[in-house]
Amino acid sequence: MSRARVSARVRALRPSETLALSARARELRAKGEKVVSFATGEPDFDTPPHIQEAAIEAIRSGHHHYTEVGGVAPLRAAIAEKLRRDNGVTCTPKEIVVTNGAKHAIWNALFTLLEPGDEVLVPVPYWVSFPEIVRLSGGEPVFVEPPRGRYKVTAEALERAAGPRARALVLNSPNNPSGAVYAPDEIAAIVDLARRKDLMILSDEIYEQLVYGDARHVSAASLSDDARARTVLVNGVSKTWAMTGWRIGYAAAAPEIAEGMERLQGQSTSNASAVSQQAALRALTGDREPAEEMKRRFAARRDFVVSGLSRMKGVRVTPPEGAFYVFPDFSERIALARNGVSDSAQLCDYLIDEAKVVCVPGSAFGMEGHVRISYAASDKDLEEGLERIAAALDRM
Ligand code: PMP
Repeated sequence: MSRARVSARVRALRPSETLALSARARELRAKGEKVVSFATGEPDFDTPPHIQEAAIEAIRSGHHHYTEVGGVAPLRAAIAEKLRRDNGVTCTPKEIVVTNGAKHAIWNALFTLLEPGDEVLVPVPYWVSFPEIVRLSGGEPVFVEPPRGRYKVTAEALERAAGPRARALVLNSPNNPSGAVYAPDEIAAIVDLARRKDLMILSDEIYEQLVYGDARHVSAASLSDDARARTVLVNGVSKTWAMTGWRIGYAAAAPEIAEGMERLQGQSTSNASAVSQQAALRALTGDREPAEEMKRRFAARRDFVVSGLSRMKGVRVTPPEGAFYVFPDFSERIALARNGVSDSAQLCDYLIDEAKVVCVPGSAFGMEGHVRISYAASDKDLEEGLERIAAALDRM
């Protein structure tokens, strides 16, 4: 066998389908195709100017070196203040670890928590990276289905799935891909189950600020001291502040867990970028209006996309309460197809070929028959893309 072989662990890794499809859209565009991408997992806006300025000031004022592994003190203090102000979660700066994006915080958390063979309950539909990071950390994902036609799992379903090896559960509200937001009583029931079964909660709150209408984000960690101690809260500046490329996320956890994550990070990536940390500090302490404005724009687009999809025959759309995704159910439409399309992956291939619109199949998120449409796209692209999807479905 070749010396250059790849380990079994990495061979088993699924490529990120969301990143792959965004790359495919970029490639087609580079070839001159008029592609509309609904595959993006990031705001289409630029980072607000005052945050850009903070980064330029940071470069000019000498933020060029390694920092504390878990993040500079002012940023940790700003995160602690943000968690208190927005989420009702009290923690000290020592309980916070600044990471290279929220994805890295999830990796740190699971690697720190899991022993080989530990099970992690992963509600369906799930963000593509959860099962893979669980496996890479030596654990095993246990998928938990919501009731038919719904996108949130119940505490009872989680309880049924929680066997003797269950160590943690994943909570991702607002959810990628469905946009579902767990109501306060649903979070309370899940937190109570975690206490009874002695499970840790990995609470991915990256879309926390993007909630619409009457929906309200509640952090599991805010419910009680016990909930706070068993929750690793993950958040970051990527989505709220259109800062995906700056790579700043963070985790807040009980002191021994935060210390473990920091030790792990000290032997792997060290600190997140010094310049980006200064930019994130400005995001968390500066003018909030640019984030509010982006949120208003997302809310208007959400309404537009939901109304466009609900006019398509055989497509069932549940209005999402948060994030920037719609996750319509195309099963009925697929069942009527006369061109051989029989699942969500084939439907997405068909839409790329026939409509030049890139979407992500539900199968990537563990839910067949659905398609994720990101409305982090310009108003013009949304209008054009929906029209093209409707026309392609009529020919299917
Ligand atoms: N969690 C969820 C649910 C996400 O959708 C994403 C981004 N697609 C992340 C985490 C990763 O965020 P970051 O870019 O800060 O690593």
